[in-house]
Amino acid sequence: MKQNKVIIVGGGLVGSLAACYFAKRGWVVELYEKRPDPRDPENLGTRNLRSINLAISTRGLSAINRLSPEVEKKVMDIVLPMYGRMIHNLDGSTAGQAYNVFGKAINSVDRGRLNEILLDECETFEGTKVFFEYSLEKCDMDAKTATFKNLKTGEIVSTSGDLVIGADGVHSVTRRFLQYYTKVNFEQVYIDHGYMEFEMRAKDGQFQMAKDHLHIWPRKTFMLIALPNLDKSFTCTLFMPWSKFNSIKTEEDLNTFFKENFPDSIPLFGQEEINLYFTNPKGSLCYIKCSPHHYKGNAVIVGDASHCTVPFYAQGMNCGFEDIEVLDTLLCQQAAPLINSKDAEQCQNVKTSSLTSDQIESALINYSACRPRDSASMIDLAMHNYIEMRHSVNTLSYKMRQWLEGKLYSIMPNTVIPLYTMVSFSKISYTDATKKWNRQTKALQSMVSVFSKLSFITAATLLIRYSGPRMGLRMPSISEIVKIFRK
Ligand SMILES: Cc1cc2nc3c(=O)[nH]c(=O)nc-3n(C[C@H](O)[C@H](O)[C@H](O)COP(=O)(O)OP(=O)(O)OC[C@H]3O[C@@H](n4cnc5c(N)ncnc54)[C@H](O)[C@@H]3O)c2cc1C
Repeated sequence: MKQNKVIIVGGGLVGSLAACYFAKRGWVVELYEKRPDPRDPENLGTRNLRSINLAISTRGLSAINRLSPEVEKKVMDIVLPMYGRMIHNLDGSTAGQAYNVFGKAINSVDRGRLNEILLDECETFEGTKVFFEYSLEKCDMDAKTATFKNLKTGEIVSTSGDLVIGADGVHSVTRRFLQYYTKVNFEQVYIDHGYMEFEMRAKDGQFQMAKDHLHIWPRKTFMLIALPNLDKSFTCTLFMPWSKFNSIKTEEDLNTFFKENFPDSIPLFGQEEINLYFTNPKGSLCYIKCSPHHYKGNAVIVGDASHCTVPFYAQGMNCGFEDIEVLDTLLCQQAAPLINSKDAEQCQNVKTSSLTSDQIESALINYSACRPRDSASMIDLAMHNYIEMRHSVNTLSYKMRQWLEGKLYSIMPNTVIPLYTMVSFSKISYTDATKKWNRQTKALQSMVSVFSKLSFITAATLLIRYSGPRMGLRMPSISEIVKIFRK
């Protein structure tokens, strides 16, 4: 029987998950990664240094669960749940804001360890080979042939297969070739803010702050956040406009900046760590939207290669993992049209490794019909959430809406769903979540408007009733009240 072969470019989080999925479905898998093997202790310094930890939530976990509940358990063994935000105010006071009225949590996970679990898992399949220190140089998408450079020896190797998957991140070379082979609409935007990381070490073997929250110091135009690690430290990220970064030139500027904005964090970091401001790398932030994500039945891009986002909804990797779940669902639909391909259990033993190229193309057409739109919605939500995290979380109107939505959600959980819950704790598509949220916003605005008018009329009625005769006022007629309502 025919056994398809997939060539996966990039062994980061999304590429290694894709390798596991294709291996499970019976494909011969070749995974090529530019960096050295991160599991080799000699290569510790060459790890991907972008965000040491990140938050994994329902979409990411669902994709891992569909692959294997055992792998999900391995991941859950290394996470720290965060049940809400802990807001650090300027005066040093803190205030918790739960993420969900039913106590759901997002999970802080070490990027490197998660990557290692997935690489280990894909190598348990006989037909899988992982090549480290191989960089994609060229991709002939008609011939389904990829050419790599061995970065240790300089040797050039070519390999052909039935499908090429580009999971090579924000600066994807695969995407560049996709743009050459087909008409790809493309948008890349660098935002005016950058980021850098600090480490808040454990003290006396203990966490220095509550470990079950994501900590935020919102300062309107910038913010500091902190996520807990298993070794009881926190990885803290400062997001700030470049102009502000550039204005801090001396140690004195730096100390003033911390004293004015994050005074409570100074003893927790210690001066030595704060001084690393001048040497720690600073990263830029951009988003990329493109469409379509595929070329014929021959190639497809996934993860950051197809939808890099700013990290403010903690959805980049989650959305990338969801890409792989969706792709698998669509391939299973082709291989076993009589079962519900969304149902992980029903698909448990489905093999997609003998699909024809026409069937693969049908799956990829369906993939590009939904993922570019959904990932673009995710990016818009992330851009919006930056304002929420650094500013709105501290405003009265935000707190009132949160409270009202939370109450309505606990009474009618299928009718009113807070946006954060739809994005982080459900698998409602990002596009549908955005639409539902816009509808909810309108409905809530109308409710608040009716409520304010009713309160005004009640107050006016009481005033006229009890003080009216003294003040020469009379009760309005019903038609006059209706007129006020219509206004
Ligand atoms: C500060 C920050 C915080 C974040 N926090 C979160 C969070 O909390 N939750 C969340 O879901 N997401 C978060 N993200 C986003 C998340 O990091 C990315 O969405 C995720 O890493 C994407 O995975 P990927 O595998 O698509 O790409 P990458 O992780 O970038 O992996 C791509 C891989 O391809 C390899 N590669 C590149 N070029 C080639 C080539 N030519 N040949 C071979 N291999 C190649 C690279 O070496 C790399 O290993 C955050 C991002 C940042 C910057």
